[in-house]
This record gives sequence, C-alpha cells and structure tokens, in this order.
Amino acid sequence: MSAALPWLQAPLARTLASARAHHALLVQGPAGVGQLAFALELARAWLCEHPGGARGGPACGQCRSCHLVDERSHPDLRLIVPEAQRAEAGLPEDGAAAEEGAGSKKTRKPSRAILIEQIRAALDFSALTAARGAHKVVLVYPAEALNAVAANALLKTLEEPPGAMRFVLASGDAQALLPTLRSRCQPVALAAPAREEALAWLRGQGVAEPEPLLDACGGQPLRALELQRAGLDAAAWRQFPQWIARGDSAAVAGWPLPVLLDALHKLCHDHALATLGAPGRYFPGARLAPGAGLARLTEAAAWLRAQTRHADHPWSAALATEALVQGTRARLQPGP
Ligand SMILES: [Zn+2]
Repeated sequence: MSAALPWLQAPLARTLASARAHHALLVQGPAGVGQLAFALELARAWLCEHPGGARGGPACGQCRSCHLVDERSHPDLRLIVPEAQRAEAGLPEDGAAAEEGAGSKKTRKPSRAILIEQIRAALDFSALTAARGAHKVVLVYPAEALNAVAANALLKTLEEPPGAMRFVLASGDAQALLPTLRSRCQPVALAAPAREEALAWLRGQGVAEPEPLLDACGGQPLRALELQRAGLDAAAWRQFPQWIARGDSAAVAGWPLPVLLDALHKLCHDHALATLGAPGRYFPGARLAPGAGLARLTEAAAWLRAQTRHADHPWSAALATEALVQGTRARLQPGP
C-alpha cells in the first residue's frame, strides 16, 4: 500500500536514518496524508530481514518478515487500533466482537476508542522477547483515539521502555494528545504532498478528475480517494450545492454520513463566504443563493456539529441522510 504513496518516501528515508536512537515516534500531520501507511512502513523496515542500505534502510518487501507485516500477522508487531477501524488497518474483524454481534446484542457499536485492555495486551507483548529478530514494534493508530486511562498506561511504559521495544504513535490530531505523551515521543511531521504530485497519484488510482476532490479535502489525497470510493466524484461534488438547495436527499443516498456531514459543513462555509462577497473555497464554481445571513449560517454550522455525534449510528443512515439534507436546506434559506 505504502509503496504507492510517493510523497512518503523522502520522509521515510529521513526518519529511518535519524530515528535509531529513539524508542518512541509520533507521526503526525493531516489525517488524509497516510500516517498509518507511514507507520507500517517504519515497522516493516525495522523488522525486515534484508533492509536496503547498510543499516536502517527501507524494507525489502520480499522477505518473510515483510510478508508477515503485510498480512498483519508478524509476531513482533502489535497494531493497536479502535475496534471500529480494524478493517481500515487491514486487520480481520475482532473474533469476540463478531461473536457478540451475532448474538442478541447486535446493535452494539464497535468502539471508536483505544481501550485500556488493548494497551495492557500490548504491554504484556512488550515483556516477551522478540520472536523473529532484534526488534519489537507497537503501533498505535490513531493515537488521539486513546482514552484517558489507556493514554496514561501507555505513558508509564514510554517513561520506562523495555529494551528492544519501539513505539510508533500515529495521529491526525496530535494536539488532542496528552502533552506528557507528546513530549515522550520524537515528532515526525508529515505534510500534504505538492498538488501536482497528489493529482498524479489520484489519476493513477483511477480518479478521472481529481482536482475538485483534492481541493475539497484540503490537499489530502487519501481523503480524496475515500470520497471517490464513496460515490462522490467530481461531477457529484459540483452538483452537490444544487442538490441540497433542492432538498434532493436521494442524490446523496449511500454516502457515508461522515462524508455527507463534512460536505454540508463545507457548503455552509462557502455560503458564508458568498454572503461576504468572497469566492467559494470548496465549491468554487457554484452560484450559491444569498439570503440566509451570517447568524443563520453560524447556527447551521452549530446544528451540523451537533449531528456529528449521531454519524455512526448503523441503523439510521437513510433517516439521518434525509434529516441532514432537509435540515441543512432549511437553514441555508432566508429566515422568516
Ligand atoms: Zn524484508
């Protein structure tokens, strides 16, 4: 996966060359730039049997260790993600959770937090000697999902790290982490790639017209690809303001709710710019009807933020889409 993210190669080489002395890294930057891919690539290089270069180069991609990392079954790598993000991290569905889901309590939502039990299991893992080579790696993603208890448990370990252990925390929102946790880690900042590089990569992924999507995502290519895969291509993005003005919720049926919410937020933002006579930032070509006024737009944005809490309800997606589209439409129109 990461081999396809060309903008990560230079920071990867720099980090591998400089990180030997550090046992804990904090990979940070915008969420859609590839923190997880980057962290996995670091782990792969550290665990690789034949890394490139004399010492500490990138992973070979061919050896048994590299394959085990790719399959997420390397005995010296522990990948800690919230239950809700196991698929994104390439991990199989959690056995215990699946069993529970098959029973009567089917409505239990997968956790979006990293829990203390997960950190405890990783600490047990860190106490064992490495199974295959010299290193063991614990990867935590996204680190801002650590709940307070789990963060404190991890902090204690980072204060007294076991010998051959390396920790990689990856975060799209590092400011949300405990300052004490941040200060224990060497920061590795990932930036969004140059626009042309991001556009070329998206075209290579089969995105025919990547420009509006990339702009909609603030230059974060992985987010842009996510939008495309959710059915939101450039044509859909251009029509979105009109769909909402018409209250056409069928047009956005099937969009993941977080994606829809994000698009509605951006629409509110551009309406506010239009009210001030400025060109739109996310929907530059759209002729947005004036009228709602800044006070109502502020209220609309606050209302959308409140809806974000319900965005991961599995049973209510269709109803929630309808409510979001109609609710936003009403709030974008002139008040009484
Ligand atoms: Zn290898």
